[in-house]
Amino acid sequence: MHSLSYERARDLAHAIELGSEPGSKYIGGGTNLLDLYKSGIERPVRLVDVSRLALNGVEELTDGGLRIGAMASNTVAANHPLVRTRYRVLSEAILNGATAQLRNMATVGGNLLQRTRCYYFTDPAFEHCNKRVPGSGCAAIDGFNRIHAILGASPSCIATNPSDMAVALVALDARVRLAGPDGERVVPMADFHRLPGDQPQFDTVIAPGELITAIDLPPPFAAQSHYVKVRDRASYAFALVSVATVLDLQCDVVRDLRLVLGGVAHKPWRAVEAEDLLRGQPLSEDAIARAGAAAVAGAQPYVHNAFKVELVPRAIARALRIAGGRA
Ligand SMILES: Cc1cc2nc3c(=O)[nH]c(=O)nc-3n(C[C@H](O)[C@H](O)[C@H](O)COP(=O)(O)OP(=O)(O)OC[C@H]3O[C@@H](n4cnc5c(N)ncnc54)[C@H](O)[C@@H]3O)c2cc1C
Ligand code: SF4
Repeated sequence: MHSLSYERARDLAHAIELGSEPGSKYIGGGTNLLDLYKSGIERPVRLVDVSRLALNGVEELTDGGLRIGAMASNTVAANHPLVRTRYRVLSEAILNGATAQLRNMATVGGNLLQRTRCYYFTDPAFEHCNKRVPGSGCAAIDGFNRIHAILGASPSCIATNPSDMAVALVALDARVRLAGPDGERVVPMADFHRLPGDQPQFDTVIAPGELITAIDLPPPFAAQSHYVKVRDRASYAFALVSVATVLDLQCDVVRDLRLVLGGVAHKPWRAVEAEDLLRGQPLSEDAIARAGAAAVAGAQPYVHNAFKVELVPRAIARALRIAGGRA
């Protein structure tokens, strides 16, 4: 019998005090943590409920940016008027995730820390999973790897990050605000999730006891943006491939852009080479095709996920055409 205690944090200091003790785990909406607890994959001894901390607002910053509290629900974040109008790609990404009921429960902080949906990770019947049991091997490499990574994977793990929101946040150059036993710090969203390397058990750079308190968005980088998500069903399904793009287009020439891929790597994957090919160029079909090819130039597909190498350029083309007003 596994014993588990539950405490609701009174305030931030109380949360960090409780959350820093060995075996403690923060709980936001519980929509991922409790599933993993029920299947024995997560084994906390204490749940520290942070969902009612006064960190659930969305406020404008003096520099023209926006701060989204980590305890804001996915629904609140996606539907906030300033998110919908100034950071459309973020609203679209969140609304493409899960279901309305889940989005009502799920918090922004919890969304960024949800674990991979690799079948071998989520089913404890499989022994070989370096992310779940470090040093045990990786069942996915020679197994059914349809949803797995084609970029940035390692011989230790080929899992993908499942968060739609994270992909858009990287495209928007967001920053993650953290508070922990050693004080506060701010991490660029692009550096928050990590590649698996030989330590795939760590998904992010978050330290023990640290709590996500907010996400800061800088002033909008460009007016045009779009999120494309390709999945097996129209709802209730994670991305096979997704693309977040933010596009600064002037007289049909790409002044600047961001292109970030989801569903292809252990973290949101910025397609830097593709961006470089498009920057300063007219947004022509030819340029879009060259950018798509560059985005998958270093891909390493496995037996069941080679289709992603074709899907990524198509999803990039769709995202750029829609953001650029061509579709
Ligand atoms: C059927 C289903 C379909 C889904 N589809 C999608 C999808 O398509 N796209 C998508 O992006 N997501 C999807 N999700 C995931 C869902 O969005 C996540 O479960 C949810 O965002 C997690 O948020 P939460 O607040 O419930 O996190 P919790 O389950 O409460 O926590 C998740 C993790 O984050 C930690 N944590 C929570 N808050 C904090 C904090 N502030 N600081 C530090 N640590 C914290 C917890 O300790 C835990 O480790 C789906 C989930 C389900 C069940
Ligand atoms: S891909 Fe990663 S999460 Fe999946 S079985 Fe291999 S080590 Fe585990």
